[in-house]
Amino acid sequence: MMVCCLLGTTAAQALESVALQLKWTHAFQFAGYYVAIEKGYYRQAGLEVRLLEAQPGTDPVKTVLSGKAEFGVGNSNLLLERQAGAPVVALAVIFQHSPLVLMAHQTKAVQSVHDLKGKRVMFETQSAELFAYLRQEGLEAKDIQVMRHSFNTRDLIEGRVDAMTAYSTNELFELNQAGFAYQMYSPREVAIDFYGDNLFTTEQQIKAHPARVAAFRAASLNGWQYAMAHPDEVIDLILTHYATQHSRAFYQFEAQQMAPLLQSSLIEVGYMNPGRWRHIANTYASLGLLPANISLDGFLYDTTPTPSVWSPYLGGALALLLCISMLASYILWANRRLAASLASQRLAQQALTESQQLYQSILQASPDAVVVSDLQGSIRHVSPVAVSMLGCETEDQLLGRNVAEFRDPADSERATANIAAMFEGVYNGAEDYRLIRLDGSTLDTEINAEIVRDAQGQPSGLIFVVRDISERKKTEQRIRHMAQHDPLTGLANRALFSDRLQRAIANAVRDKTGLALLFIDLDKFKPVNDTYGHAVGDRLLQEVARRMLQCVRDSDTVARIGGDELVVLLRGACGIPNTLVVAEKIRSSLERPFQLDGHELLISCSVGVALFPEHGQDEITLAKHADLAMYQAKEHGRNQVCLFQPWQDD
Ligand code: GH3
Ligand code: MG
Repeated sequence: MMVCCLLGTTAAQALESVALQLKWTHAFQFAGYYVAIEKGYYRQAGLEVRLLEAQPGTDPVKTVLSGKAEFGVGNSNLLLERQAGAPVVALAVIFQHSPLVLMAHQTKAVQSVHDLKGKRVMFETQSAELFAYLRQEGLEAKDIQVMRHSFNTRDLIEGRVDAMTAYSTNELFELNQAGFAYQMYSPREVAIDFYGDNLFTTEQQIKAHPARVAAFRAASLNGWQYAMAHPDEVIDLILTHYATQHSRAFYQFEAQQMAPLLQSSLIEVGYMNPGRWRHIANTYASLGLLPANISLDGFLYDTTPTPSVWSPYLGGALALLLCISMLASYILWANRRLAASLASQRLAQQALTESQQLYQSILQASPDAVVVSDLQGSIRHVSPVAVSMLGCETEDQLLGRNVAEFRDPADSERATANIAAMFEGVYNGAEDYRLIRLDGSTLDTEINAEIVRDAQGQPSGLIFVVRDISERKKTEQRIRHMAQHDPLTGLANRALFSDRLQRAIANAVRDKTGLALLFIDLDKFKPVNDTYGHAVGDRLLQEVARRMLQCVRDSDTVARIGGDELVVLLRGACGIPNTLVVAEKIRSSLERPFQLDGHELLISCSVGVALFPEHGQDEITLAKHADLAMYQAKEHGRNQVCLFQPWQDD
């Protein structure tokens, strides 16, 4: 963030305008500077850079010393200028090797550099390295016809001169194009290895604008780094914005020739080796252009300035830097702490969300209803199943209501006792409760209750897991019914009848009341089966049962205890007369014809009657006596009612 602020401040500031004096017309030779402009490297350094093209005769050193440009592109000649009193400082070397060569017509007359003796040779002004080369080869300037350079290769091609200084990167192309047979002589052949183009400024500039100089240098070198890696892009740039006097092929040739001179893939662009400068100085000295062993102090730009250069501001600047650094460290530390805290909060939040989602998933997936209440029973949360189970449309119909509202009052006492026991640590397990739904209908459920506790382990509410067991109850009821009833007629079977008789006797004893027992056997039933078939016989039995039920109260019991044997238990103290009335009612109802499957069937029954307590004190005795009375009725001609007579038991 701080970096952004700083960048923002820089961008917002007005750019400083500076000029760079080139040493020739626009060409690939200055590729790095075009890139630094185009890519905004200078702008990012706070600089607006103007490139000043050179004309023949332009001396970049003079331009920079005069203040018309802050920076210049020079060559190794800078050493001579420096020694002559010009306070120039080499900032960076661009060409690790000078491209300056001698080009001569390849003729029998000129086979070696010696053959240039007395010949017409065009020299550009800063050609000391070539003179050194000639000297090394035994030729002095006076031995040659030194001519002013026309910078026109036609003069060589057309023979107006015998040789000329040239840049191996440029003129060679034109000579090749012209199909000119040339001989090229390079000082490197005799180990005179000068630097080529370099970037320079003055001591005054460095003193007055140290940061600007450093920024300009860095941006320029960045430009060069990029340019040598993307020559085609730079050629496009040159052709579009800078120079159109040459073809693309010319600039491509120049770029190719420059690559081995810059050696940018091997040597960091801008690198200056003091040893190389010393070698250059010695070469100049050998020519008598410089004294021996001149000092190079101050000539080479120091990329790591000493405190004295910055004094007296350095102390303050360092203190400020320290403060900024401490502040940045603090902010970094605080940010890290905050980030760690946020990260742990995020993790906690994530865990909470996951836990809630898990909880929701369990609730959604559970076929059981889940109801959460506070300790007073007020409903706080319900699962979707709970909403429908309790006959509601939305959970809002449940929230805030008390769980007791949905409980069958008959279960209240048991429920309260169970919850109290739960708080005392007694687990009751699941229990069956009948719920009252919102519409008043009932629902058989099995409920498991548990205490909800807060983070401190204190009880904060209750959770009820409610299972709908209505289906189970129905099944149980069906099984129980099947076990106790006659499947053909639906009447109580012998087992149920026996059970009810025992209870009835017990109640009668307790209440000091009576009851009556009627044993009924159909008369001549077998012939019905024989005549109409067993199925019709079954249908007749079902109709018989229906008519008999119509003759008794709901509290009475009619049971089928055998094939065509039925019994009726009349509860309460009926007395003999009333009992006989009921018995007669049954007899007469069965006497009426039955319409079955298009047949009119006539049947009758024999009824034996025994009363409690008069005719028996227990179930077995009473049944036996009723049965005896029934046989009495058979014996007396059937279709009649007989009351047990005590003498019959003998
Ligand atoms: P009685 O007047 O002496 O009682 O003569 P009955 O023909 O009724 O003879 P009894 O009571 O001894 O025989 C009962 C008959 O009832 C025997 C059997 O054919 C018939 N029966 C028994 N159980 C069933 C049943 O479930 N369905 C049908 N269709 N007939 C039955
Ligand atoms: Mg019978």
